[in-house]
Amino acid sequence: MEKLMTETSLNIGIPKIWRVNLKNKSVSYENIPKSWERLGGRGLVAKFLVDEVVPTCEPLGPMNKLILAPGLLVGHMISSCDRISFGGKSPLTGGVKEANAGGTTGLYMTHLGIKALIIEDQSINNDWSVLFIDSNGIKLDPAEELIGLGVYDCSKKLLDKYGSKIAVALIGRSGEFQLSSAGIQNLDKENIPSRIAARGGLGAVMGSKKIKAIVIDGRIGQKPSIAHPEEFRQAQKIFTKALMEAPQTAVYRDYGTAAMSRMANGFGGLPTNNFSQGQFNNIETISGEYMRNTILERGGEGEPTHACMPGCTIRCSNNYPDRNGNSIVSPIEYETIGLMGSNLGISDLDTVAKINYIVNDLGLDSIEIGAALGVAAKAGIMDFGDGNRAMQLIDEIRSNTPLGRLLGSGATITGKVLGVEQVPAVKGQAMSAYEPRAIKGTGVTYATSPQGADHTSGLTIRAKINHLDPKGQADLSRTVQINMAGYDTLGACIFTGPGFTSAPGTIRDMLNARYDWNVSNDILQELGRTSLKWEHEFNLKAGFSKADDRLPEWMTRVPLSPNNSVFDVSEEDLDGVYNW
Ligand code: SF4
Repeated sequence: MEKLMTETSLNIGIPKIWRVNLKNKSVSYENIPKSWERLGGRGLVAKFLVDEVVPTCEPLGPMNKLILAPGLLVGHMISSCDRISFGGKSPLTGGVKEANAGGTTGLYMTHLGIKALIIEDQSINNDWSVLFIDSNGIKLDPAEELIGLGVYDCSKKLLDKYGSKIAVALIGRSGEFQLSSAGIQNLDKENIPSRIAARGGLGAVMGSKKIKAIVIDGRIGQKPSIAHPEEFRQAQKIFTKALMEAPQTAVYRDYGTAAMSRMANGFGGLPTNNFSQGQFNNIETISGEYMRNTILERGGEGEPTHACMPGCTIRCSNNYPDRNGNSIVSPIEYETIGLMGSNLGISDLDTVAKINYIVNDLGLDSIEIGAALGVAAKAGIMDFGDGNRAMQLIDEIRSNTPLGRLLGSGATITGKVLGVEQVPAVKGQAMSAYEPRAIKGTGVTYATSPQGADHTSGLTIRAKINHLDPKGQADLSRTVQINMAGYDTLGACIFTGPGFTSAPGTIRDMLNARYDWNVSNDILQELGRTSLKWEHEFNLKAGFSKADDRLPEWMTRVPLSPNNSVFDVSEEDLDGVYNW
């Protein structure tokens, strides 16, 4: 056991920046710089990257840093607002990266007074470690016995060793192999490692630092202080009521994110057979309704709804069981259904669930791997609809074979090596399960987001507009991107939007009451704009240009059935997204 540093005087009631240097084995607990005070989550990641990380650095080298930052509202179990942001330079895109997750990591960090945890440099002796954090500080424990384990077995061992009241952020084999589609898994409130900060390869960054897991002891900790408790309680109450009553959230409560399967298919925007079609003939057996009925019929460990973090009232998560009622995986999300179901021509939900479990265990981003497998199918490496072959190919990743490393490096590299033009990716990152030729506002988000193609950067499918009309999509995407960057800075789940929108002023009121600030009603947009500005700045310094803010050319000329549409939002509109 290697103690880096403990401070008996460490006052967890005063938030600090906790910084670990792996090369010289030092820890510091720093006061929060003035310019970081009003930031959290994604905004803090962006500011940190701009201030401290050389944009041209090697993402898997010692100059890159891994940052964990809970959002500004985290720590109080406000419904769906305890998310943790991970950040660093992305090995997948070569640009800025923030990926966030639910579970308990953000909550426990905040209770120990950690405004952000920054992991710097790399160990000289190359040994694997567990980074253990409690109210005394940080220590490094040896992790050799955990190497080679998937996230399910690894987290069981960590829970045995450190007790059940811990939060864990950990990597699977893919992170150990430093593959660009490796994410960072987090325990949910039942201590299942199922909440992944999936996108952009941050699991590889953690692997490059030889950290298998970050364990946060939750036994001693306290809720952050609130400057004006009564005002805070009132705002929280209004928000929770609005969230509970919003019709959009009711859908997620019943069907989870899988509710989007039929909706996207209805718009002709469900990726099918490597983004060749916008509708899937067998939509019924991968729909949210089918999933819910199957879970209810099978019973046992199955749960049609489930909360990933304490206090979430939306409960969009689920636990999908086999015919005997034994859990196959928790949860199945729409993105996985879209990328590993219809995109691979697979219509059997049990098969999708099994693939989902394997991918989770390896700590992989199911969107990136689903897209890479779609490209591999296009190249003839597997047949569309062949779930067994898909599992064999994922086993290649587990075995770290050249083919496995290719697929694990993501869709763009897979397409380049296999000679496939039809790769659904922007800035090297695969698209989510919304076809941009049918949902064009989301296409604008894919093209222009500094994060690369990512629906969580600005999903437009719920807007009541003609999604096929190219006009107005850039304005819509800009608005949604700004809001989403704001929510990510608060630590609020993407699904809190309807609650905050129908309870205007509650974000302002909660922040003012929590921090004794005096922010105005447009604080969400202010946070979002600021974050996007820094992310954009980082990317420009890393070498990106307007040419990178485009969808792949084939999507502008190959029509998508059934609407026969191409992506035709003008370049002028795309270039104008950041003019505000
Ligand atoms: S809505 Fe879903 S993803 Fe969001 S916090 Fe709740 S369970 Fe987690």
